[in-house]
Amino acid sequence: MKKLAILGSTGSIGHSTLSICESFPDRYQVISLAAGSNIDVAYAQCLRWRPKVISLATEQLAATLKTRLKAADISNIEVLHGTAGSIHVATLPEVNFVVSAIVGVAGLEATYAAVCAGKTIGLANKECLVAAGELIIAAAKKHNVALLPIDSEHNAVHQCMRGGTPQEVKQIWLTASGGPFRNTPLPDFDHITPQQALKHPTWVMGQRITIDSATMMNKGFEVIEACRLFNLPPKQVRVTIHPQSTVHSLVEFVDGSILAQISVTDMRLPILYALAYPERVPSEGKVDLTFDLTTLSQLDFSVPDLTRFPCLRLAFEAAENGGRSCIALNAADEIAVAAFLEGRIPFMGIPRTIETVLQLTAGQPPASISEVLDADLAARQQAREVIAPQFTGVGR
Ligand code: NAD
Ligand code: MG
Repeated sequence: MKKLAILGSTGSIGHSTLSICESFPDRYQVISLAAGSNIDVAYAQCLRWRPKVISLATEQLAATLKTRLKAADISNIEVLHGTAGSIHVATLPEVNFVVSAIVGVAGLEATYAAVCAGKTIGLANKECLVAAGELIIAAAKKHNVALLPIDSEHNAVHQCMRGGTPQEVKQIWLTASGGPFRNTPLPDFDHITPQQALKHPTWVMGQRITIDSATMMNKGFEVIEACRLFNLPPKQVRVTIHPQSTVHSLVEFVDGSILAQISVTDMRLPILYALAYPERVPSEGKVDLTFDLTTLSQLDFSVPDLTRFPCLRLAFEAAENGGRSCIALNAADEIAVAAFLEGRIPFMGIPRTIETVLQLTAGQPPASISEVLDADLAARQQAREVIAPQFTGVGR
């Protein structure tokens, strides 16, 4: 029996993870949950899963949840809050598998604590690998912890890697759907609205990752995530536009063979793979993850256009530059995406903001998680300063 802590239980990945737990009650037990501010969903999850501990983002939210649980006569769920709360959730002695699916660097400290506590990690939170990848990978090696990717591309690469040794890998290919603006002409990019950008053609996900997919920053983060997870330099990580999202990624070996992973576009499959690893669990009859190969008529692959998707170029540059560039890339993107969703900057204001912040970023690679968080805060502040004059109409 695997005993789970789910960080980000009320989000899209959190829901899919709980759906797998629902389908395989004999294999996966929910021990603890951490979430942000969606109190209704958190309450419903307490009623359904009866976790030992749940943590919410703030003290006030935790107090409200405690009151609601008390009114329902439930007294055996410990309710915590903040970073200390999510760290507690992730490091409970009886937990042996942590699903890391809080969005953004808010999930970093709990994920790092889980690695240091020797828990196996199912990693969805790519931002923590972008910001603190070297530290997390070093800690995972030190504590002999498996980092099992849930992000579908890296999950696919992980599966294909079983076909050879790391030394036999020539390069990996991450597939990208290209998002909703794959065919939009460049002059139209500045008129893209949040509503248009929030409609992803093939995946249903949280808001930030959906916008990151529309700018292709998501793929940029995934390039950095792949470099860290598979110990490859950026030049051995390639991106190909594959609108069908059927091939989830590919590994090219030195002899010329290319292995691809094909499956449904349903995150429950990579979640199940990570939870079951190193086994493969039969899904038929429990959860419908079958892919009907007979319906497949076409697979397209093309080169991404870095003029229309500068975020992808910026991510490759940050990966090459190292230091604090990747932290700034992620932090500036988070602020810029929020500003775009609030109607404060146009769509192309996202890469413009990030590029300016990257130009202002210098410094050695961080030596600790607290240095990562300091650099993250500094980059956020710079991003806000870059955005402010755009908002008032000055400097655009
Ligand atoms: P989401 O926005 O749907 O959910 C985010 C979760 O994080 C929610 O439970 C929210 O309450 C929680 N959260 C936010 N701030 C918090 C805080 N301060 N403290 C505690 N919890 C907090 O996002 P998602 O789509 O589920 O994505 C989660 C992560 O997985 C992201 O890093 C994303 O890049 C990655 N990912 C998602 C998908 C997908 O299909 N959704 C695919 C690959 C990778
Ligand atoms: Mg992905």
